[in-house]
This record gives sequence, structure tokens and C-alpha cells, in this order.
Amino acid sequence: MSENPILARYHAVRDSIAKAATASGRAVGSVALVAVSKTFPPEDIALVLAAGQRVFGENRVQEAKAKWPGLRDQYAGIELHLIGPLQSNKAGEAVAFFDCIETVDRPKIAQALATEITKQGKHPILLVQVNTGAEPQKAGVLPEETDAFLASCRELGLKISGLMCIPPADEEPALHFALLEKIARRNGLALLSMGMSADYEAAVKFGATHVRVGSGIFGHRAQPM
Ligand SMILES: *Cc1c(COP(=O)(O)O)cnc(C)c1O
Repeated sequence: MSENPILARYHAVRDSIAKAATASGRAVGSVALVAVSKTFPPEDIALVLAAGQRVFGENRVQEAKAKWPGLRDQYAGIELHLIGPLQSNKAGEAVAFFDCIETVDRPKIAQALATEITKQGKHPILLVQVNTGAEPQKAGVLPEETDAFLASCRELGLKISGLMCIPPADEEPALHFALLEKIARRNGLALLSMGMSADYEAAVKFGATHVRVGSGIFGHRAQPM
């Protein structure tokens, strides 16, 4: 019997990440695969959980809260990343539910997260989203404003561990990966979440510590998100 298509793609992605890391002289374990499970049902997610995957990305707080509690009861060691835009009125739920919030992108969110982290005594890993292409429709801090935003996060007592970006669809992603790496390096930040299904191998070459792969594992998404 042939392997389930989701599992076949999952293993192929893992192999490609390992090859890209090795080709760049990096340890295979230095790149974490964030399996982006937004819009996909718990049955699909359970397949890759059973294959050993533990780090997942979701775009929406409500969707994650509906899908994940049951899976968390069944599998230990799950690490959930919020990779979609966060509204300040959801900051409390996000801090309570996610292990990593990749989309800190404006002062209001930084303030709301600082308040909730103090209140709950829970400390998710935090990344700042950078709008490397300065696209008006896209979330994220502008590259030239990132240093100042990071400083304001520090003043709030927020520990930021790294940066995240989504390059413009019609541009060479490598330029954006290189820019994100440069901003992270000059700010002493260790984590770089960059690269999706179409370009994660290039992202590994530019130093990604986290690649976010959705359709490349789970297949085509019916709902656009
Ligand atoms: C949906 C999404 C991904 C995964 O995209 P694919 O092209 O399906 O791999 C990665 N990052 C973010 C922020 C996303 O919203």
C-alpha cells in the first residue's frame, strides 16, 4: 500500500530541510519545521503528530482553540505557534494558549502582551513580524522602524527572541531573508522564522531557525487565508 500523501509530503519536506541545512554547513537540528495546519482538520494533523511532528502553526486564535485541546490531550510535547495577525482583545487568549507568538507587530499588541504575561505568569516565545517588503496590505513593523520597536518592547519588559517575515509574493525571497537576518543580527536576536512551502530551502540557506510549511505538507487549502 502506498504511503498517505500527507505523510509522503511531510517526510519529503523533512528531507529537504535536512539537505538544505547540511549544504549550508548547518546542523540539521538547528532548523525547526513549523507545520502550518490552519484550515486543516484534526484527522490530518494527527497523522503528522503520529509521525513525530510536534511544532505547529495556526493563524487564528479561535480556530486553534477549537482544534487543539483534543490533540494536546493525546500527544505530549506539542508546541503551538500563532503565525497570524493578533488583535489586542485576543492577547490574553493568545498568551494562555500559544507557546510562541510570531506576530508581535505594533505598540498596542506589545503593551497588551506585556500586561497579560505579567498577569498570567506565562511566557510564550515572542517574535516581531517585519514587513520586509513594506507592503501596505501586510502586517509587520517596517524594516527601518524595527530597531526602535524592539527597544520599546524592551522598555515594556517584553523579551523578544527573534523576527519573522512573509516576503512579497512577486519578489525574490532571498533579498528579504537576508534583510531579516541582518536586522536580527544587529539586534542580537537568535530566532528567524522565514520560508514557506515555496521557498523554505532558500530560507534555511539564509539562516532560518524556523520554516513555516503548510500546503507543502497538508496539500491545497480550500479556504484562502
Ligand atoms: C499560511 C501561512 C504559511 C504557510 O504557507 P504555505 O505556502 O501553505 O506553506 C506560513 N506562514 C504564514 C504566516 C502563513 O499565514
